[in-house]
Amino acid sequence: MRYPVNYINITNPFKKAVHYGIDLGWGNECGKNQPIYAIDDGVVIYKSIQTTGGKVLHIKHANGFVSEYAHLDTWDVNKGDRVSKGQRIGTMGCTGTNARGNHCHLGLYKGISINYKDLSKFVNPIDYLTRTSEQVVTDKTEANYFIKYHKEEPKVEWTIGNYELLVSKAIRTSHELIDNIVKVGACMSSVKPNLTSANSNDDAFYKIGTIVDITEIYVDETSRVWGKLQNCWIVLCNKDGTPQAKKVL
Ligand SMILES: [Zn+2]
Repeated sequence: MRYPVNYINITNPFKKAVHYGIDLGWGNECGKNQPIYAIDDGVVIYKSIQTTGGKVLHIKHANGFVSEYAHLDTWDVNKGDRVSKGQRIGTMGCTGTNARGNHCHLGLYKGISINYKDLSKFVNPIDYLTRTSEQVVTDKTEANYFIKYHKEEPKVEWTIGNYELLVSKAIRTSHELIDNIVKVGACMSSVKPNLTSANSNDDAFYKIGTIVDITEIYVDETSRVWGKLQNCWIVLCNKDGTPQAKKVL
């Protein structure tokens, strides 16, 4: 089973008798309304608006678990739909009584359906989920939680061409040159997450999923991989090896 987001930022862990799931928040780099994906193949067995959970989906899986996704902003599937692992099922939101801002509450329940009167069957999703190479983990989450990594993934070759962004990116056409390379961050996306084209400040914002044309590759001294996008450089892969973009074939 995989994580339901491509930007793994755990803001509230599983704790028995307190919190029966994990909260996956926006983080600074992922932008608003990031997609939520099914953690495994399954069937949507529940689609309802709850007072606390807001828009909630339950997916029943063949391995004896049901996954629960709460506080969704939008949902892309209906009760009875068959979904495959990694299929987009909705977007992150803050529906329901929820003081913690936009996040996805993910519950994992051992059983054929979730019985909210028997919370003891909720397990800690972290123990069962695996991160893939296209999923980014925030430093804080990496430091505080053990995120399993699917190591069989093939090593990525970084070559020029089209890439799909796994996190949203802000690029600027006016910025300083460091070591002859323009280094720009990706942290402004939460400010203007929905813009996809240049604005009057010469900034351009790209949402998750945007396809960009990378015309040059540069690997810096820390092994971070940069790609040239128009007149700017964006990070394609962090120095720890976690990609921020995926080659489109
Ligand atoms: Zn929660």
